[in-house]
Amino acid sequence: MTAYPSLFVSHGSPMMALEDSAARRFLGELGARILGEIGRPRGVLIASAHWEAHELAFTTAAKLPTIHDFGGFPRRLYECRYEPPGAEEAVAKAAGLLQAAGMEVYGDPRRGLDHGAWVPLMLMFPDADVPMAQITIQTPLGPAHQIEVGRTLAPLREEGILIVGSGNITHNLPEMDRQAPDSDAHDWVKEFSEWVKAALDEGRIDDLVGWEANAPHARRSHPSDEHFLPLFTALGAGGEGAKVERIHTSYSYASLAMDMYAFG
Ligand code: ZN
Repeated sequence: MTAYPSLFVSHGSPMMALEDSAARRFLGELGARILGEIGRPRGVLIASAHWEAHELAFTTAAKLPTIHDFGGFPRRLYECRYEPPGAEEAVAKAAGLLQAAGMEVYGDPRRGLDHGAWVPLMLMFPDADVPMAQITIQTPLGPAHQIEVGRTLAPLREEGILIVGSGNITHNLPEMDRQAPDSDAHDWVKEFSEWVKAALDEGRIDDLVGWEANAPHARRSHPSDEHFLPLFTALGAGGEGAKVERIHTSYSYASLAMDMYAFG
């Protein structure tokens, strides 16, 4: 079996579930390519910016409810449902690897998929027939911890499991231009996202881990850390020295860079 790459996807605004955009179209094509070229994953494990917790935890529900974790959007967005089966087998294997690496792991039988998970996964796998589970991120522990979690899970890619990090390459909500879903971007958005690409291409992982000190416009691009951290989970899951490819680039609402990456 061909190993799946690990993926980082930018999920943008929840309206991507309904509104046409370059990123939305790309996610549809990406899912179709995965199904056509590698085959249907046995499971998807996704770390989204919207499930931060002190503990490493997985969703363990047999059918994952849709969490509408946002406010002020049109009613039809709240009517969207995406309820794939839980990825029991993938969670068991992932928990085994993490525990063997000395990490404590918990299960959450009630939690479903937040919009950072269900919006991109619905676009990629619209039939909702791939087993899925979400895993928490530990924001205070920073990028190095996320790389470690990803690296520990990397062997699962050889076992038919697709590992995804979902955040945004830049995520500044106050500076969004809400009129323009597919807009050009502020210069600082471009500078930050191109810095990320160059650092990934050149394998400058230490620079990336220290992004807050090293990247241009770091805090303007990420006033808080959580939307950047899933990139590191995906990077780690690509394995040591993995091939990096920026598979998509576009901008949304001027302040959200929608870049996506494949590792391995
Ligand atoms: Zn988000």
